[in-house]
Amino acid sequence: MVELESIGQSGTTRNYVDGGWRDAMGDGELESVNPATGEELATVPFSSAEDIDDVVRSGNEAFETWSEQPVEARIQPLFRLKMLLEDHQEELAELLVRDHGKTIAEARGELRRGIENVEVACGIPSMMQSGSLLNAAPEIDESAVRKPLGVFAAITPFNFPGMIPLWFLPYAVATGNSFILKPSEQNPLVAQRLFELVDEAGFPDGIIQLVNGGPDTVNALLDHEGVEGASFVGSTPIAKLVYERAAKNGKRVQAQGGAKNHIIVTETADLEFAAEKAVSSACACGGERCLANDVVLVEESVYDEFVNLVVEEANAQTVGDGLDEATDIGALISPEHEQTVRNYIQTGIEEGAELLLDGRDVTVDGYEDGNFLAPTVFGDVTEDMVISREEIFGPVVGLAPVDDVDAAIERMNKSQFGNAASLFTGSGADARKFRHEGDIGNLGVNVGTSAPMAFFHFGGWKDSFFGDLHAQGEDMIHFYTDKAVYIERWPDA
Ligand code: NAD
Repeated sequence: MVELESIGQSGTTRNYVDGGWRDAMGDGELESVNPATGEELATVPFSSAEDIDDVVRSGNEAFETWSEQPVEARIQPLFRLKMLLEDHQEELAELLVRDHGKTIAEARGELRRGIENVEVACGIPSMMQSGSLLNAAPEIDESAVRKPLGVFAAITPFNFPGMIPLWFLPYAVATGNSFILKPSEQNPLVAQRLFELVDEAGFPDGIIQLVNGGPDTVNALLDHEGVEGASFVGSTPIAKLVYERAAKNGKRVQAQGGAKNHIIVTETADLEFAAEKAVSSACACGGERCLANDVVLVEESVYDEFVNLVVEEANAQTVGDGLDEATDIGALISPEHEQTVRNYIQTGIEEGAELLLDGRDVTVDGYEDGNFLAPTVFGDVTEDMVISREEIFGPVVGLAPVDDVDAAIERMNKSQFGNAASLFTGSGADARKFRHEGDIGNLGVNVGTSAPMAFFHFGGWKDSFFGDLHAQGEDMIHFYTDKAVYIERWPDA
Protein backbone atom coordinates (compact mmCIF):
# COMPACT_ATOMS: atom_id res chain seq x y z
CA MET A 1 0.00 0.00 0.00
CA VAL A 2 1.11 3.53 -0.63
CA GLU A 3 1.64 5.85 2.31
CA LEU A 4 -0.10 9.19 1.95
CA GLU A 5 -1.67 11.35 4.61
CA SER A 6 -4.88 11.75 2.60
CA ILE A 7 -5.16 7.98 2.22
CA GLY A 8 -4.18 6.95 5.74
CA GLN A 9 -4.77 3.51 7.27
CA SER A 10 -7.90 2.89 5.21
CA GLY A 11 -5.90 2.41 2.02
CA THR A 12 -8.59 4.24 0.02
CA THR A 13 -8.25 7.43 -1.99
CA ARG A 14 -10.44 10.35 -0.94
CA ASN A 15 -11.96 13.34 -2.64
CA TYR A 16 -10.78 16.84 -1.78
CA VAL A 17 -13.94 18.91 -1.31
CA ASP A 18 -14.35 22.44 0.04
CA GLY A 19 -10.85 22.42 1.53
CA GLY A 20 -11.05 18.99 3.25
CA TRP A 21 -10.76 15.25 2.55
CA ARG A 22 -13.97 13.22 2.14
CA ASP A 23 -14.82 9.62 1.24
CA ALA A 24 -16.39 9.09 -2.19
CA MET A 25 -19.84 7.56 -1.79
CA GLY A 26 -20.64 6.12 -5.24
CA ASP A 27 -20.93 2.57 -6.51
CA GLY A 28 -17.86 0.84 -7.84
CA GLU A 29 -14.16 1.02 -7.14
CA LEU A 30 -10.85 0.04 -8.69
CA GLU A 31 -7.52 -1.10 -7.28
CA SER A 32 -4.56 1.08 -8.11
CA VAL A 33 -1.72 -1.38 -8.80
CA ASN A 34 2.02 -0.94 -9.35
CA PRO A 35 2.42 -2.08 -12.99
CA ALA A 36 5.99 -3.30 -12.43
CA THR A 37 5.36 -5.42 -9.33
CA GLY A 38 1.62 -6.11 -9.17
CA GLU A 39 1.58 -4.58 -5.66
CA GLU A 40 -1.80 -3.09 -4.68
CA LEU A 41 -1.24 0.56 -3.84
CA ALA A 42 -4.72 1.81 -2.91
CA THR A 43 -8.42 1.26 -3.47
CA VAL A 44 -10.13 3.95 -5.54
CA PRO A 45 -13.84 4.31 -4.64
CA PHE A 46 -15.94 6.14 -7.23
CA SER A 47 -17.93 9.31 -6.57
CA SER A 48 -21.72 9.44 -6.69
CA ALA A 49 -23.99 12.06 -8.29
CA GLU A 50 -24.51 13.48 -4.75
CA ASP A 51 -20.72 13.81 -4.34
CA ILE A 52 -20.66 15.76 -7.59
CA ASP A 53 -23.53 17.97 -6.39
CA ASP A 54 -21.53 18.83 -3.26
CA VAL A 55 -18.35 19.60 -5.11
CA VAL A 56 -20.07 21.76 -7.73
CA ARG A 57 -21.98 23.66 -5.04
CA SER A 58 -18.77 24.49 -3.13
CA GLY A 59 -17.05 25.40 -6.39
CA ASN A 60 -19.78 27.88 -7.25
CA GLU A 61 -19.86 29.39 -3.74
CA ALA A 62 -16.09 29.81 -3.73
CA PHE A 63 -16.18 31.33 -7.21
CA GLU A 64 -18.33 34.25 -6.00
CA THR A 65 -15.50 35.57 -3.82
CA TRP A 66 -12.48 34.29 -5.73
CA SER A 67 -13.50 35.87 -9.04
CA GLU A 68 -13.57 39.28 -7.29
CA GLN A 69 -10.08 38.90 -5.76
CA PRO A 70 -7.36 41.12 -7.18
CA VAL A 71 -5.34 39.20 -9.73
CA GLU A 72 -2.18 39.53 -7.61
CA ALA A 73 -3.97 37.78 -4.75
CA ARG A 74 -5.03 34.96 -7.08
CA ILE A 75 -1.50 34.14 -8.16
CA GLN A 76 0.11 34.08 -4.67
CA PRO A 77 -1.03 30.52 -3.87
CA LEU A 78 0.15 29.47 -7.34
CA PHE A 79 3.65 30.72 -6.54
CA ARG A 80 3.48 28.68 -3.30
CA LEU A 81 2.25 25.64 -5.23
CA LYS A 82 5.15 25.99 -7.66
CA MET A 83 7.65 25.97 -4.77
CA LEU A 84 5.94 23.01 -3.10
CA LEU A 85 6.04 21.08 -6.38
CA GLU A 86 9.75 21.87 -6.73
CA ASP A 87 10.44 20.80 -3.14
CA HIS A 88 8.52 17.54 -3.53
CA GLN A 89 9.42 16.77 -7.13
CA GLU A 90 11.52 13.69 -6.40
CA GLU A 91 8.96 12.20 -4.05
CA LEU A 92 6.20 12.86 -6.61
CA ALA A 93 8.32 11.31 -9.37
CA GLU A 94 8.80 8.11 -7.35
CA LEU A 95 5.08 7.89 -6.61
CA LEU A 96 4.36 8.47 -10.30
CA VAL A 97 6.66 5.58 -11.29
CA ARG A 98 5.00 3.25 -8.77
CA ASP A 99 1.51 4.16 -9.95
CA HIS A 100 2.18 4.40 -13.70
CA GLY A 101 5.16 2.17 -14.53
CA LYS A 102 7.23 4.69 -16.56
CA THR A 103 10.89 5.39 -15.77
CA ILE A 104 12.04 7.78 -13.07
CA ALA A 105 13.68 10.02 -15.71
CA GLU A 106 10.39 10.23 -17.62
CA ALA A 107 8.50 10.95 -14.40
CA ARG A 108 10.89 13.79 -13.53
CA GLY A 109 10.56 15.21 -17.06
CA GLU A 110 6.77 14.99 -16.90
CA LEU A 111 6.61 16.85 -13.60
CA ARG A 112 8.94 19.54 -14.93
CA ARG A 113 6.49 20.08 -17.83
CA GLY A 114 3.64 20.32 -15.33
CA ILE A 115 5.45 22.84 -13.13
CA GLU A 116 6.16 24.97 -16.20
CA ASN A 117 2.42 25.43 -16.63
CA VAL A 118 2.13 26.74 -13.07
CA GLU A 119 4.94 29.19 -13.88
CA VAL A 120 3.20 30.39 -17.05
CA ALA A 121 -0.12 30.86 -15.24
CA CYS A 122 1.64 33.12 -12.70
CA GLY A 123 1.92 35.59 -15.61
CA ILE A 124 -1.88 36.01 -15.74
CA PRO A 125 -1.76 39.72 -14.73
CA SER A 126 -0.20 40.40 -18.14
CA MET A 127 -1.68 37.52 -20.13
CA MET A 128 -5.30 38.20 -19.18
CA GLN A 129 -5.27 41.79 -20.39
CA SER A 130 -7.28 42.78 -23.43
CA GLY A 131 -7.12 45.84 -25.68
CA SER A 132 -8.47 49.32 -25.17
CA LEU A 133 -8.70 52.37 -27.41
CA LEU A 134 -9.23 56.03 -26.64
CA ASN A 135 -11.47 57.91 -29.09
CA ALA A 136 -12.78 54.74 -30.69
CA ALA A 137 -15.69 56.95 -31.82
CA PRO A 138 -16.50 60.65 -31.15
CA GLU A 139 -16.06 61.16 -27.36
CA ILE A 140 -16.14 57.42 -26.89
CA ASP A 141 -13.44 55.19 -25.40
CA GLU A 142 -13.69 51.44 -25.70
CA SER A 143 -12.01 48.65 -23.82
CA ALA A 144 -12.26 44.89 -23.90
CA VAL A 145 -12.00 42.76 -20.75
CA ARG A 146 -11.89 39.05 -19.96
CA LYS A 147 -14.16 37.69 -17.25
CA PRO A 148 -14.01 34.33 -15.45
CA LEU A 149 -17.09 32.15 -15.81
CA GLY A 150 -17.54 29.75 -12.88
CA VAL A 151 -16.76 26.08 -12.23
CA PHE A 152 -14.64 24.15 -14.73
CA ALA A 153 -13.84 20.43 -14.71
CA ALA A 154 -10.95 18.48 -16.22
CA ILE A 155 -11.05 14.76 -16.95
CA THR A 156 -7.59 13.32 -17.47
CA PRO A 157 -5.98 10.08 -18.74
CA PHE A 158 -3.58 7.61 -17.12
CA ASN A 159 -0.48 8.26 -19.19
CA PHE A 160 0.68 11.63 -17.76
CA PRO A 161 -0.96 11.77 -14.34
CA GLY A 162 1.45 14.43 -13.06
CA MET A 163 1.52 16.77 -16.05
CA ILE A 164 -1.90 16.77 -17.71
CA PRO A 165 -3.91 18.04 -14.69
CA LEU A 166 -1.50 21.00 -14.70
CA TRP A 167 -2.32 21.83 -18.34
CA PHE A 168 -5.58 23.18 -16.88
CA LEU A 169 -5.60 23.72 -13.10
CA PRO A 170 -3.27 26.75 -12.81
CA TYR A 171 -4.89 28.68 -15.65
CA ALA A 172 -8.44 27.98 -14.45
CA VAL A 173 -7.84 29.44 -11.00
CA ALA A 174 -5.48 32.24 -12.03
CA THR A 175 -8.17 33.58 -14.37
CA GLY A 176 -10.63 33.61 -11.43
CA ASN A 177 -12.59 30.37 -11.89
CA SER A 178 -12.89 27.36 -9.63
CA PHE A 179 -11.67 23.96 -10.76
CA ILE A 180 -12.53 20.28 -10.30
CA LEU A 181 -10.16 17.48 -11.36
CA LYS A 182 -11.31 13.94 -12.18
CA PRO A 183 -8.07 12.02 -12.72
CA SER A 184 -7.76 8.58 -14.30
CA GLU A 185 -9.12 5.93 -11.97
CA GLN A 186 -6.23 3.67 -13.04
CA ASN A 187 -3.54 5.73 -11.31
CA PRO A 188 -4.92 8.64 -9.24
CA LEU A 189 -2.21 8.67 -6.57
CA VAL A 190 -0.10 11.49 -7.98
CA ALA A 191 -3.25 13.64 -8.11
CA GLN A 192 -3.99 12.62 -4.52
CA ARG A 193 -0.52 13.86 -3.45
CA LEU A 194 -0.77 16.93 -5.71
CA PHE A 195 -3.93 17.93 -3.84
CA GLU A 196 -2.19 17.54 -0.48
CA LEU A 197 0.21 20.17 -1.82
CA VAL A 198 -2.69 22.28 -3.16
CA ASP A 199 -4.09 22.18 0.38
CA GLU A 200 -0.75 23.35 1.78
CA ALA A 201 -0.46 26.13 -0.81
CA GLY A 202 -3.46 27.82 0.79
CA PHE A 203 -6.05 28.30 -1.93
CA PRO A 204 -9.45 29.31 -0.51
CA ASP A 205 -11.74 26.35 0.22
CA GLY A 206 -13.67 25.13 -2.81
CA ILE A 207 -11.46 26.77 -5.43
CA ILE A 208 -9.56 23.60 -6.38
CA GLN A 209 -11.25 20.25 -5.79
CA LEU A 210 -10.66 16.59 -6.58
CA VAL A 211 -13.14 13.81 -7.31
CA ASN A 212 -12.22 10.21 -8.05
CA GLY A 213 -14.33 7.98 -10.23
CA GLY A 214 -15.09 6.44 -13.59
CA PRO A 215 -17.49 7.11 -16.48
CA ASP A 216 -20.53 7.78 -14.24
CA THR A 217 -18.58 10.42 -12.35
CA VAL A 218 -17.58 12.06 -15.64
CA ASN A 219 -21.17 12.05 -16.88
CA ALA A 220 -22.41 13.57 -13.61
CA LEU A 221 -19.96 16.44 -14.12
CA LEU A 222 -20.90 16.89 -17.78
CA ASP A 223 -24.62 16.89 -16.99
CA HIS A 224 -24.45 19.22 -13.98
CA GLU A 225 -25.92 22.63 -14.66
CA GLY A 226 -23.50 24.20 -12.18
CA VAL A 227 -20.48 23.25 -14.32
CA GLU A 228 -19.56 25.90 -16.88
CA GLY A 229 -17.13 23.91 -19.02
CA ALA A 230 -14.94 20.83 -19.28
CA SER A 231 -11.55 19.84 -20.59
CA PHE A 232 -10.98 16.22 -21.53
CA VAL A 233 -7.84 14.29 -22.44
CA GLY A 234 -8.04 10.60 -23.35
CA SER A 235 -8.86 8.19 -26.16
CA THR A 236 -10.69 9.33 -29.31
CA PRO A 237 -13.96 7.42 -28.78
CA ILE A 238 -14.36 8.86 -25.27
CA ALA A 239 -13.22 12.33 -26.40
CA LYS A 240 -16.05 12.30 -28.97
CA LEU A 241 -18.60 11.19 -26.37
CA VAL A 242 -17.47 13.85 -23.89
CA TYR A 243 -17.42 16.57 -26.54
CA GLU A 244 -20.95 15.75 -27.72
CA ARG A 245 -22.41 15.37 -24.22
CA ALA A 246 -20.90 18.58 -22.88
CA ALA A 247 -21.89 20.55 -25.99
CA LYS A 248 -25.44 19.19 -25.83
CA ASN A 249 -25.60 20.49 -22.27
CA GLY A 250 -24.51 23.93 -23.46
CA LYS A 251 -21.03 23.83 -21.93
CA ARG A 252 -17.68 25.00 -23.18
CA VAL A 253 -15.64 21.93 -24.03
CA GLN A 254 -12.25 20.96 -25.39
CA ALA A 255 -11.51 17.26 -25.88
CA GLN A 256 -8.09 15.89 -26.80
CA GLY A 257 -8.16 12.39 -28.27
CA GLY A 258 -5.85 9.61 -29.38
CA ALA A 259 -3.24 9.58 -32.12
CA LYS A 260 -1.22 7.76 -34.73
CA ASN A 261 1.95 9.68 -35.43
CA HIS A 262 4.57 9.50 -38.15
CA ILE A 263 8.27 10.11 -38.58
CA ILE A 264 9.66 10.82 -42.03
CA VAL A 265 13.36 10.19 -42.66
CA THR A 266 15.00 11.54 -45.83
CA GLU A 267 18.32 10.44 -47.31
CA THR A 268 19.93 13.72 -46.20
CA ALA A 269 19.17 13.05 -42.50
CA ASP A 270 21.71 12.12 -39.83
CA LEU A 271 20.52 8.51 -39.82
CA GLU A 272 22.05 7.42 -36.51
CA PHE A 273 20.50 10.40 -34.72
CA ALA A 274 17.15 9.81 -36.43
CA ALA A 275 17.16 6.09 -35.50
CA GLU A 276 17.89 6.88 -31.85
CA LYS A 277 15.07 9.45 -31.77
CA ALA A 278 12.63 7.19 -33.66
CA VAL A 279 13.08 4.38 -31.13
CA SER A 280 12.81 6.67 -28.13
CA SER A 281 9.77 8.44 -29.61
CA ALA A 282 7.91 5.17 -30.20
CA CYS A 283 9.05 3.22 -27.14
CA ALA A 284 9.77 5.64 -24.28
CA CYS A 285 7.04 5.67 -21.66
CA GLY A 286 6.29 2.14 -22.93
CA GLY A 287 4.85 3.76 -26.07
CA GLU A 288 2.01 5.13 -23.93
CA ARG A 289 2.24 8.68 -25.24
CA CYS A 290 -0.13 10.57 -27.49
CA LEU A 291 2.99 12.00 -29.15
CA ALA A 292 4.65 8.62 -29.78
CA ASN A 293 5.71 8.52 -33.45
CA ASP A 294 5.41 4.85 -34.27
CA VAL A 295 5.14 4.76 -38.07
CA VAL A 296 8.49 5.58 -39.67
CA LEU A 297 8.51 6.37 -43.39
CA VAL A 298 12.01 6.23 -44.85
CA GLU A 299 13.30 7.26 -48.28
CA GLU A 300 13.98 4.07 -50.20
CA SER A 301 17.67 4.84 -50.88
CA VAL A 302 18.49 4.67 -47.13
CA TYR A 303 15.75 2.29 -45.99
CA ASP A 304 17.87 -0.86 -45.40
CA GLU A 305 20.61 1.06 -43.60
CA PHE A 306 18.02 2.84 -41.43
CA VAL A 307 16.16 -0.37 -40.58
CA ASN A 308 19.41 -1.91 -39.26
CA LEU A 309 20.09 1.14 -37.12
CA VAL A 310 16.57 1.05 -35.65
CA VAL A 311 16.74 -2.66 -34.83
CA GLU A 312 20.14 -2.17 -33.19
CA GLU A 313 18.87 0.78 -31.13
CA ALA A 314 15.64 -1.00 -30.15
CA ASN A 315 17.56 -4.09 -29.12
CA ALA A 316 19.77 -2.02 -26.82
CA GLN A 317 16.83 -0.82 -24.67
CA THR A 318 16.77 -2.06 -21.08
CA VAL A 319 13.32 -3.09 -19.86
CA GLY A 320 12.57 -3.11 -16.14
CA ASP A 321 11.26 -1.37 -13.06
CA GLY A 322 11.09 2.35 -13.71
CA LEU A 323 12.63 3.09 -10.31
CA ASP A 324 15.91 1.56 -11.51
CA GLU A 325 17.88 4.42 -13.11
CA ALA A 326 19.26 1.97 -15.71
CA THR A 327 15.79 1.20 -17.10
CA ASP A 328 14.90 2.64 -20.52
CA ILE A 329 11.41 1.16 -20.80
CA GLY A 330 9.18 0.55 -17.79
CA ALA A 331 5.98 -1.44 -17.37
CA LEU A 332 2.68 -0.96 -19.22
CA ILE A 333 -0.26 0.31 -17.20
CA SER A 334 -2.17 -2.98 -16.79
CA PRO A 335 -2.16 -6.66 -17.81
CA GLU A 336 -5.22 -5.90 -19.97
CA HIS A 337 -3.39 -3.16 -21.84
CA GLU A 338 -0.32 -5.40 -22.26
CA GLN A 339 -2.62 -7.97 -23.86
CA THR A 340 -4.04 -5.32 -26.23
CA VAL A 341 -0.53 -4.47 -27.40
CA ARG A 342 0.30 -8.19 -27.80
CA ASN A 343 -2.83 -8.55 -29.93
CA TYR A 344 -1.66 -5.70 -32.18
CA ILE A 345 1.71 -7.43 -32.61
CA GLN A 346 -0.07 -10.65 -33.59
CA THR A 347 -2.24 -8.68 -36.03
CA GLY A 348 0.88 -7.16 -37.59
CA ILE A 349 2.33 -10.63 -38.14
CA GLU A 350 -0.93 -11.91 -39.65
CA GLU A 351 -1.18 -8.85 -41.91
CA GLY A 352 2.20 -9.73 -43.38
CA ALA A 353 4.44 -7.04 -41.88
CA GLU A 354 8.05 -8.19 -41.50
CA LEU A 355 8.80 -8.95 -37.83
CA LEU A 356 12.35 -7.65 -37.41
CA LEU A 357 12.47 -7.66 -33.62
CA ASP A 358 10.01 -9.42 -31.32
CA GLY A 359 9.65 -7.85 -27.88
CA ARG A 360 7.07 -10.24 -26.52
CA ASP A 361 9.39 -12.74 -24.91
CA VAL A 362 10.86 -10.50 -22.23
CA THR A 363 11.45 -11.37 -18.61
CA VAL A 364 12.56 -9.03 -15.87
CA ASP A 365 14.17 -10.97 -13.01
CA GLY A 366 12.40 -10.40 -9.72
CA TYR A 367 9.40 -8.71 -11.44
CA GLU A 368 7.45 -11.72 -12.65
CA ASP A 369 4.10 -9.96 -12.03
CA GLY A 370 5.02 -6.85 -14.07
CA ASN A 371 3.38 -5.86 -17.38
CA PHE A 372 6.53 -5.76 -19.50
CA LEU A 373 7.09 -5.70 -23.23
CA ALA A 374 10.40 -4.98 -24.97
CA PRO A 375 10.46 -3.04 -28.26
CA THR A 376 8.99 -4.78 -31.29
CA VAL A 377 10.05 -3.63 -34.76
CA PHE A 378 8.13 -4.32 -37.96
CA GLY A 379 9.36 -3.60 -41.50
CA ASP A 380 7.39 -3.15 -44.73
CA VAL A 381 4.31 -1.82 -42.96
CA THR A 382 1.84 -0.84 -45.67
CA GLU A 383 -0.72 1.91 -45.22
CA ASP A 384 -3.74 -0.41 -45.25
CA MET A 385 -2.47 -2.46 -42.28
CA VAL A 386 -4.17 -2.08 -38.90
CA ILE A 387 -0.79 -1.52 -37.22
CA SER A 388 -0.23 1.43 -39.57
CA ARG A 389 -3.62 3.02 -38.87
CA GLU A 390 -4.59 2.40 -35.24
CA GLU A 391 -3.06 3.68 -32.03
CA ILE A 392 -1.17 0.79 -30.40
CA PHE A 393 0.02 2.62 -27.26
CA GLY A 394 2.86 0.16 -26.73
CA PRO A 395 6.58 -0.11 -27.64
CA VAL A 396 6.05 -1.05 -31.30
CA VAL A 397 7.77 0.61 -34.28
CA GLY A 398 6.59 0.09 -37.87
CA LEU A 399 8.90 1.02 -40.74
CA ALA A 400 8.09 1.45 -44.42
CA PRO A 401 10.03 2.60 -47.49
CA VAL A 402 8.68 5.58 -49.46
CA ASP A 403 9.72 7.09 -52.81
CA ASP A 404 10.28 10.59 -51.49
CA VAL A 405 9.11 13.20 -49.02
CA ASP A 406 5.97 13.97 -51.09
CA ALA A 407 4.83 10.36 -50.93
CA ALA A 408 5.54 10.28 -47.20
CA ILE A 409 3.53 13.44 -46.49
CA GLU A 410 0.67 12.16 -48.64
CA ARG A 411 0.56 8.88 -46.65
CA MET A 412 0.87 10.69 -43.32
CA ASN A 413 -1.98 13.07 -44.17
CA LYS A 414 -4.33 10.18 -44.95
CA SER A 415 -4.39 9.25 -41.24
CA GLN A 416 -7.64 9.95 -39.39
CA PHE A 417 -5.45 11.46 -36.64
CA GLY A 418 -3.35 14.62 -36.67
CA ASN A 419 -1.62 14.88 -33.33
CA ALA A 420 2.11 14.94 -34.10
CA ALA A 421 4.78 14.16 -36.67
CA SER A 422 8.52 14.58 -37.07
CA LEU A 423 10.78 14.95 -40.07
CA PHE A 424 14.47 14.08 -40.02
CA THR A 425 16.32 15.77 -42.85
CA GLY A 426 19.29 17.91 -43.85
CA SER A 427 17.16 19.76 -46.41
CA GLY A 428 15.52 23.09 -45.65
CA ALA A 429 13.26 22.66 -48.67
CA ASP A 430 11.96 19.33 -47.34
CA ALA A 431 11.45 20.88 -43.90
CA ARG A 432 9.48 23.76 -45.40
CA LYS A 433 7.28 21.42 -47.44
CA PHE A 434 6.63 19.32 -44.31
CA ARG A 435 5.66 22.39 -42.28
CA HIS A 436 3.40 23.73 -45.01
CA GLU A 437 1.70 20.53 -46.05
CA GLY A 438 1.46 18.46 -42.85
CA ASP A 439 -2.16 18.34 -41.57
CA ILE A 440 -0.90 17.92 -38.04
CA GLY A 441 -1.06 19.94 -34.81
CA ASN A 442 2.52 19.42 -33.57
CA LEU A 443 5.27 19.25 -36.21
CA GLY A 444 8.91 18.58 -35.31
CA VAL A 445 11.96 18.91 -37.53
CA ASN A 446 14.96 16.87 -36.33
CA VAL A 447 13.09 16.46 -33.04
CA GLY A 448 11.93 13.00 -31.95
CA THR A 449 8.85 13.96 -29.96
CA SER A 450 7.27 17.31 -30.70
CA ALA A 451 5.94 18.39 -27.30
CA PRO A 452 5.35 22.15 -27.07
CA MET A 453 6.51 24.11 -24.04
CA ALA A 454 3.87 25.38 -21.60
CA PHE A 455 3.78 28.86 -23.16
CA PHE A 456 2.62 27.35 -26.50
CA HIS A 457 -0.72 25.63 -26.99
CA PHE A 458 -0.89 21.83 -27.00
CA GLY A 459 -3.39 20.08 -29.24
CA GLY A 460 -3.82 17.93 -32.30
CA TRP A 461 -5.99 18.05 -35.41
CA LYS A 462 -8.65 15.81 -36.98
CA ASP A 463 -9.73 12.93 -34.71
CA SER A 464 -7.01 13.81 -32.21
CA PHE A 465 -8.96 16.86 -31.04
CA PHE A 466 -12.55 18.07 -30.73
CA GLY A 467 -13.03 21.76 -30.05
CA ASP A 468 -11.15 24.90 -30.99
CA LEU A 469 -9.07 26.15 -28.05
CA HIS A 470 -6.25 23.80 -27.08
CA ALA A 471 -4.49 23.09 -23.76
CA GLN A 472 -1.71 25.18 -22.16
CA GLY A 473 -0.71 28.82 -22.50
CA GLU A 474 -2.82 31.54 -24.06
CA ASP A 475 -5.51 29.17 -25.39
CA MET A 476 -6.37 28.31 -21.79
CA ILE A 477 -6.99 31.95 -20.95
CA HIS A 478 -9.45 32.20 -23.84
CA PHE A 479 -11.12 28.95 -22.77
CA TYR A 480 -11.53 30.02 -19.16
CA THR A 481 -12.84 33.54 -19.81
CA ASP A 482 -15.45 35.34 -21.85
CA LYS A 483 -14.95 38.77 -23.37
CA ALA A 484 -16.93 41.92 -22.80
CA VAL A 485 -16.49 45.35 -24.36
CA TYR A 486 -17.04 48.59 -22.42
CA ILE A 487 -18.11 51.51 -24.58
CA GLU A 488 -18.06 54.76 -22.58
CA ARG A 489 -18.98 58.38 -23.23
CA TRP A 490 -18.46 61.07 -20.56
CA PRO A 491 -19.64 64.35 -22.07
CA ASP A 492 -17.51 67.34 -21.03
CA ALA A 493 -14.98 65.03 -19.41
P1 NAD B 1 -9.54 6.91 -21.67
O1 NAD B 1 -10.28 7.59 -22.75
O2 NAD B 1 -9.81 5.47 -21.43
O3 NAD B 1 -9.80 7.64 -20.26
C1 NAD B 1 -9.59 9.02 -20.10
C2 NAD B 1 -10.56 9.55 -19.03
O4 NAD B 1 -11.89 9.33 -19.48
C3 NAD B 1 -10.44 8.86 -17.67
O5 NAD B 1 -10.46 9.84 -16.67
C4 NAD B 1 -11.66 7.96 -17.61
O6 NAD B 1 -12.18 7.83 -16.31
C5 NAD B 1 -12.66 8.67 -18.49
N1 NAD B 1 -13.58 7.75 -19.18
C6 NAD B 1 -13.31 6.50 -19.62
N2 NAD B 1 -14.39 5.97 -20.23
C7 NAD B 1 -15.37 6.90 -20.15
C8 NAD B 1 -16.73 6.94 -20.60
N3 NAD B 1 -17.29 5.92 -21.23
N4 NAD B 1 -17.43 8.07 -20.37
C9 NAD B 1 -16.88 9.13 -19.73
N5 NAD B 1 -15.60 9.13 -19.29
C10 NAD B 1 -14.85 8.04 -19.49
O7 NAD B 1 -7.99 7.16 -21.97
P2 NAD B 1 -6.72 6.55 -21.23
O8 NAD B 1 -6.59 5.11 -21.59
O9 NAD B 1 -6.72 6.93 -19.80
O10 NAD B 1 -5.55 7.40 -21.92
C11 NAD B 1 -4.93 7.03 -23.12
C12 NAD B 1 -5.49 7.79 -24.31
O11 NAD B 1 -5.37 9.20 -24.08
C13 NAD B 1 -4.73 7.52 -25.59
O12 NAD B 1 -5.64 7.37 -26.65
C14 NAD B 1 -3.88 8.77 -25.77
O13 NAD B 1 -3.50 9.05 -27.10
C15 NAD B 1 -4.79 9.81 -25.24
N6 NAD B 1 -4.06 11.01 -24.86
C16 NAD B 1 -4.19 12.11 -25.66
C17 NAD B 1 -3.48 13.27 -25.38
C18 NAD B 1 -3.59 14.48 -26.26
O14 NAD B 1 -3.09 15.52 -25.90
N7 NAD B 1 -4.25 14.36 -27.42
C19 NAD B 1 -2.64 13.30 -24.26
C20 NAD B 1 -2.54 12.17 -23.46
C21 NAD B 1 -3.26 11.02 -23.77
